Amino acid sequence: MSEAIFGPGTPGVVGETAETVECDIAVVGSGMGGATVAWALREKGAKVLVIERGDFAPREYENWSPRAVFGENRYKNADPWVGGDGRKFTPGYYHYVGGSTKLYGATLPRLREADFGEIAYEDGLSPAWPISYDDLEPFYGEAESLFLVHGDGADPTEPRRSTAFPYEPIPHEAPIEKLAERLRGQGIRPYHLPQALDRRAGGDCVLCRTCDAYICMLDAKGDADVCAMRPAIESPDVRLMTRTAVDRVLTEGGAVSSLAANRDGRRIKVKAGRYVLAAGAMNTAALLLASDPGGPGVANSSDQLGRNYMAHTCTFVAGVRPGRDPHFVYHKTMGISDWYEAGPGTPFPLGNIQSLGKLTGTTIKAARPWAPTAILDWFTRRSVDFFAQTEDVPLPENRVAIEPDGTRRLHWRPTNLGPHAELVKRASTALRKAGYPLVFTEQLGIEATSHQSGTARMGTDPSTSVVDPGCRAHDLDNLWILDSSVFCSSGAMNPALTVAANAMRVVDSGALTA
Ligand SMILES: Cc1cc2nc3c(=O)[nH]c(=O)nc-3n(C[C@H](O)[C@H](O)[C@H](O)COP(=O)(O)OP(=O)(O)OC[C@H]3O[C@@H](n4cnc5c(N)ncnc54)[C@H](O)[C@@H]3O)c2cc1C
Repeated sequence: MSEAIFGPGTPGVVGETAETVECDIAVVGSGMGGATVAWALREKGAKVLVIERGDFAPREYENWSPRAVFGENRYKNADPWVGGDGRKFTPGYYHYVGGSTKLYGATLPRLREADFGEIAYEDGLSPAWPISYDDLEPFYGEAESLFLVHGDGADPTEPRRSTAFPYEPIPHEAPIEKLAERLRGQGIRPYHLPQALDRRAGGDCVLCRTCDAYICMLDAKGDADVCAMRPAIESPDVRLMTRTAVDRVLTEGGAVSSLAANRDGRRIKVKAGRYVLAAGAMNTAALLLASDPGGPGVANSSDQLGRNYMAHTCTFVAGVRPGRDPHFVYHKTMGISDWYEAGPGTPFPLGNIQSLGKLTGTTIKAARPWAPTAILDWFTRRSVDFFAQTEDVPLPENRVAIEPDGTRRLHWRPTNLGPHAELVKRASTALRKAGYPLVFTEQLGIEATSHQSGTARMGTDPSTSVVDPGCRAHDLDNLWILDSSVFCSSGAMNPALTVAANAMRVVDSGALTA
């Protein structure tokens, strides 16, 4: 045990180390899964080392600059991947302490009870999970509290909850409230989105325009860095090693023996009793596949590793109301779940709709460089911007693959396009009727990996799943996976709260510390 990095008085962020670093539990990744695991383990007596490829995200003026964020891609730091069609793309995930939550939209809904059961779609089966909503329910409440979730519970599909939302909902701005009223006039039941922001008494969140897809300059977003990782390393038992990319999981006799990593250009080895992978669904699968060059991949006797990738089938829907500029600022407060379940006129669930962080001319300009900025600004000042998401079903051919030359390939064709088109149509019609006559839509492609999940799914049968219901690898006694890889289905709700609640559930079971 390299005691030097643990104990009272040692820095929470590890400095210089020997070539081999030892701990009881090594956690790869400090995003929603990894940071929550570290936070939940902080008082359990084990020495926990979190290994993070990125550094702390910089706090600087450009955090809130649409030009720097969208025009110059200042914070994008994912490596390029290749799609099934051979086209190179940069995925929308991030290497920072806190992972993708540093830039996330901070909407933290629970999956619904029905999402844990089987749902048959035209495009395939959304399979049942080996755990139920009830298994996660107490941890959803704990995660809402840790990440400072504000909500009203008025979503008509809101699942049973044993604890109320910890904080009051973020109020709609006046034009959004007006829109909500008009939607209610159509029989639609808009609700306040569950937002993870520090709007507690004395909290630092100022409800700015630059939250969703931006780094918070005030550390006032309920992200995994601020809410989980930094509090975790206040414990003498938890340490964080940044700028360290694990590139190989080494095994010996049915167990992981060590991790090989690149630390600022230096090779190091991490030896632990137990290992947790939480590198995100694409990178966790890529790491395990790359760890067995020429073979099937570590923990892959099922041949399921990397398969069943899901990302949600998503479209931006913007309704424009010509006239006065309503001066939207924090406009990500409204959700619509009226078509989340199968119902009149649709044999399939359609999905969820939620407002986005405010689009600006500069945001759109990055995707439409030919369009005059003045026109884009005019439209986006007068638009209400939504995100329609439909469940993406897990298909074995939608997968992460590592090729012999190391190329990382993502094969993905979005599923449920029929129900999704119907969702977008209903959203567009509702917006027009509510006084937004011009509606623009744009479906997202393979680059939109932000809701990635499913590449190492959990199950009771080792021939069809990668980890067991406790998220321990079927093939390796001392390996757990605790990020969105383990999802069996994606529902049509944002994934991060489920990642956190599941991590808390597994730590609470005692399996990691037994
Ligand atoms: C712009 C944006 C908006 C989003 N909005 C929402 C939202 O509103 N609500 C919601 O629920 N979700 C949202 N998401 C998705 C959400 O951020 C993810 O679901 C969540 O972060 C997933 O957690 P994770 O632990 O699986 O992965 P991550 O949080 O991505 O963490 C993975 C971590 O592992 C590290 N890592 C990767 N490979 C290695 C390696 N080889 N060695 C060491 N470290 C490694 C990464 O650097 C990263 O820190 C959004 C994402 C983006 C990008």
